[in-house]
Amino acid sequence: MNELCMNHLSFSQLTQAEQCPYAYYLIRIAGIQPQENAFSQAGSFVHHLLADWARGMNSLEELPVLWAAGFSEYVTECFPPYLEAKDYRRKLLESVGAYFKHFRGFPGYDIIAAEQPFTSSLAGEPFMGVIDLILRDQATGEYVVVDHKSSSLSSFRRSKRAMYRQVLLYAKYLADHFGTFPARLCFNLFRESVLDEQPFRSEDYVEAVHWAEDTIRAMNERDLTDWFELRPDQFYCTNLCPARGNCSYGCWQNHTKGVDRNEKQPQPVPA
Ligand code: SF4
Repeated sequence: MNELCMNHLSFSQLTQAEQCPYAYYLIRIAGIQPQENAFSQAGSFVHHLLADWARGMNSLEELPVLWAAGFSEYVTECFPPYLEAKDYRRKLLESVGAYFKHFRGFPGYDIIAAEQPFTSSLAGEPFMGVIDLILRDQATGEYVVVDHKSSSLSSFRRSKRAMYRQVLLYAKYLADHFGTFPARLCFNLFRESVLDEQPFRSEDYVEAVHWAEDTIRAMNERDLTDWFELRPDQFYCTNLCPARGNCSYGCWQNHTKGVDRNEKQPQPVPA
């Protein structure tokens, strides 16, 4: 076991390690301060507002007002220049504002928990997560796990299978605490005002657990700083990666698509 063995793994850490082991290394092992981005800041604010609503701390009528009033305070980073040039900030403010304006909650369901933290283990490693929302169908008593996502519909569709792994792994919490797996899993794509739902299937759950265990084993066996293990994507590296400020690939000018054995390994940028 290498030094990757940390206190708790999360789904986002697993996907980060799968996408770029070097980013995982810089943040979780080298201990650099993760860098925020405007997309994640906006998403966190929406999660915060929906969690407070689910806990009865704000009303449906207040949601669009709170969103508009707090947006500038929460979203302090810039969006990528080409999006700022297209007035993306204002469009996001308006599209999510429209979502909140028309949001009517989840009629027919009782809210069981919001932002529910849990811990379990995968491949012998402690694992943790936070379930955005747990609902119970008033007619059938069945449980539904809901995850709020800021993804566009097109990007969600491209990575739908990978995204559902997250809520499948979270479903274990319900089995442990309510004695049953959820009947359905749901993504609330708030930017699109779309709810994407699928039934819980045990074969999908087994696949998600195998994926997580395989990913953990690969992380433990590989050299996370190995240049040839990097899988940089230009947009992700230069705009989203939380380690972009400490990696030469985080600079647009330095970024080279693909892996070229003649290129230098990205080096952490001194703080
Ligand atoms: S900027 Fe790119 S190559 Fe560098 S750590 Fe982040 S994802 Fe990996």
